[in-house]
Amino acid sequence: MTSFNYSAHFKHILQSTHENGRFRNFLPLQRHVGNFPNATSTLPNGTKKDVTIWCSNDYLGMGQNPIVMNAMHKAIQQYGTGAGGTRSISGTTQLITQLEDSLCDLHNSESALVFTSGFTSNEGSLGALIRLLPDCVVFSDELNHASMIIGIRNGGAEKHIFRHNDIEHLEDLLKATDIHRPKLIAFESVYSMDGDIAPIADIIALAKKYNAMTYLDEVHAVGLYGPRGGGVAEQLNIMDQIDIIEGTFGKAYGVMGGFITGKKELIETIRLHAPAFIFTTALPPVVVAGALASVEYLKTSSIERDTAHANAQHLKKHIAKADIRTLQGQSHIVPLIIGDDACCKAITSILLNDYNIYAQPINAPTVPKGTERLRLTATAAHTRDHINTLMNALNDLWSSHEFSKIMTG
Ligand SMILES: *Cc1c(COP(=O)(O)O)cnc(C)c1O
Repeated sequence: MTSFNYSAHFKHILQSTHENGRFRNFLPLQRHVGNFPNATSTLPNGTKKDVTIWCSNDYLGMGQNPIVMNAMHKAIQQYGTGAGGTRSISGTTQLITQLEDSLCDLHNSESALVFTSGFTSNEGSLGALIRLLPDCVVFSDELNHASMIIGIRNGGAEKHIFRHNDIEHLEDLLKATDIHRPKLIAFESVYSMDGDIAPIADIIALAKKYNAMTYLDEVHAVGLYGPRGGGVAEQLNIMDQIDIIEGTFGKAYGVMGGFITGKKELIETIRLHAPAFIFTTALPPVVVAGALASVEYLKTSSIERDTAHANAQHLKKHIAKADIRTLQGQSHIVPLIIGDDACCKAITSILLNDYNIYAQPINAPTVPKGTERLRLTATAAHTRDHINTLMNALNDLWSSHEFSKIMTG
């Protein structure tokens, strides 16, 4: 008997990943301060070209904000590079405590906890919370992000998936569950791939009726929604009715890291029981300083938010007028539905090669098969000229012979 061939095994996996269209190439992309949303890309053949990014989550251009950059320059001069340890072993800097205080103020909550990313905050918090609730039942929106799904799975409790944003389905599932069992409803505010927004108030009402806890991922909303950037729940004035709000510093805040906020006993419990928090080195002071500066800045500056939303509305208006299949959500995200992974890849390559427009194809398993798409985001850094150039390119390509050839195979 021959022994197991590891190399052949993994080569086989890569080959089938290629064959089922799930292989991913990353486009090398150099952003330059002051030049976003334009950037220099390096194409597969090695040539460099300037492109306009239409798929960034740096919604407010905070990645090149001078106040945030200054705070980070200062922090590295003052505190050096890494944190030097986990939060419990020498990694709790004053800056990280200040950032948590700033988040309590933002979300009007008792307590906040900073993680190294939005992913780890979801994974760690949901896992710990669910594990610690006796005989817990979890209700999870079917379009929840992978980090929530993995956290819920780690929690190991009974789980029910409700149809996306479907309040009636959620109520049916809640009704069918013993009222005495602890329950947790996990959902997002802005769904990043469809661009729609959850009926947060209705979900809160159901949570009250059936005595369930609520866990809300506001990753695509913090910084961008609400008068101070507190998210959709702030905009609706219902932040205090959510048990846990989770967010990131990596998207609208333009830096990196994640967090949760909520009642003291909840956040303290997660702090003491989430391995994804406990057993990892704290964020470096330089990153924390950037996140803090960004959060504080966006509490009072609305110009970035107003510009980003105005740009998104402008883009949506033009897309609606064009002969282009899209999803009409209430958020800033504009998904263009293509419906096939090979077509999606072909169209994004043409946009990149012929029109200098960078929009990454979003294929399965990130979105359901048959709904492959381009996910466009108009940021505060885009101008009306950028939008006009994009619309000309889309109208041109979508009405071309090449496009119909791609779509009909
Ligand atoms: C990106 C994302 C996360 C993860 O946040 P990171 O800070 O990038 O790790 C969590 N939830 C949702 C909905 C996301 O889109």
